[in-house]
Amino acid sequence: MRVATCMLLLMGLTGSLVEGRAAKSSPGVKTSVFGKTQDGREAHLYTLSNKSGLEVAITDFGGTVVSIKVPDRNGKLDDVILGYDSLEGYESGTAYLGATVGRYGNRIGGAKFSLDGKEFTLPKNDGANHLHGGFNKVLWDARPGAGQDTPTLHLHYLSKDGEDGYPGNLSVDVAFSLTRANELKIEYSATTDKKTVVNLTNHCYFNLAGSGTILNNKLTLLASRFTPVDAGLIPTGELRSVAGTPFDFREPTSVGARIEQDDEQLKLGKGYDHNWVLDAGVKAKPGLAATLYEPTTGRVLETLTTEPGIQVYTGNFLDGTIHGKGGQSYARRSAICLETQHFPDSPNHPDFPSTTLEPGKKYHTVTIYKFSAR
Ligand code: BGC
Repeated sequence: MRVATCMLLLMGLTGSLVEGRAAKSSPGVKTSVFGKTQDGREAHLYTLSNKSGLEVAITDFGGTVVSIKVPDRNGKLDDVILGYDSLEGYESGTAYLGATVGRYGNRIGGAKFSLDGKEFTLPKNDGANHLHGGFNKVLWDARPGAGQDTPTLHLHYLSKDGEDGYPGNLSVDVAFSLTRANELKIEYSATTDKKTVVNLTNHCYFNLAGSGTILNNKLTLLASRFTPVDAGLIPTGELRSVAGTPFDFREPTSVGARIEQDDEQLKLGKGYDHNWVLDAGVKAKPGLAATLYEPTTGRVLETLTTEPGIQVYTGNFLDGTIHGKGGQSYARRSAICLETQHFPDSPNHPDFPSTTLEPGKKYHTVTIYKFSAR
């Protein structure tokens, strides 16, 4: 009797036991069932909250950030990312809403690359090219952790040798934590048993007003150059100065101010869908890369990273066909992604900072999304 009571208490504290997988809770992290995948596995939702009013929900399906609730300048909470109400949306969706992206964030030209003279071919899932990989469609192992002040969710995934054509068993850890300074900190680590390429990022679609377009958002990028692309959105290899172009966001500028200009690069991206070369390069500690300000709510999002690049994507391919949270249809330019990363197609550009990971070495990057209002 006493044992049974203890068991019940313990289950109450740690969440439900499902198919032998414990859905654990931890201080500052609430666990609930999110749904069942089409093949019958249970996915969970982990809600991290802190005392400063930030609440972030993440599912182990795809390592996906499902919602980020942040106060505006009057303390009103809104969810500032696009997403779906249920697991089915994430399972069938193709836009990577909120996802952990890997094994290689953004495009690899011709869906192939070589390491030590051996060619590897990847699925062509974006015309003739490979885009992002499939980490957003797998169920990650999850473990809530840390104390009340920094609620954390640890995710782990073993990407098998040959999966999606990439060499090496890649053991990947992603830790999401909330700090008292209203930061969502994402720490990515990985090791491999064969030489491979890795470029992990997060694909949150931010809308700091909670609805409408992002064209009035003021964006600042600490980048004097960007990587121009060809018609397949593959970098040409050039690092081009932003000076005198619609790609100059060194001073705060509305996203929509120049987006329709008669500019070859804007036409190719159907708007902004480009990688900027951060002036600070690869860093040991995260440094400021971008600031986004939404004038009607006063919300500010600062992006800090150890990465050398940031892909700014202004939701140009959203066309109203996605029915997301609360049945909202997501229109063109209704969100902006700030994907910190190494440059797209780096495996085919020896001059770009390297994305190669060797056995015995550790991949480690940190990105912080810091929220405030003014
Ligand atoms: C790419 C876009 C793509 C989007 C969703 C971004 O990282 O650059 O071209 O449409 O991801 O996959």
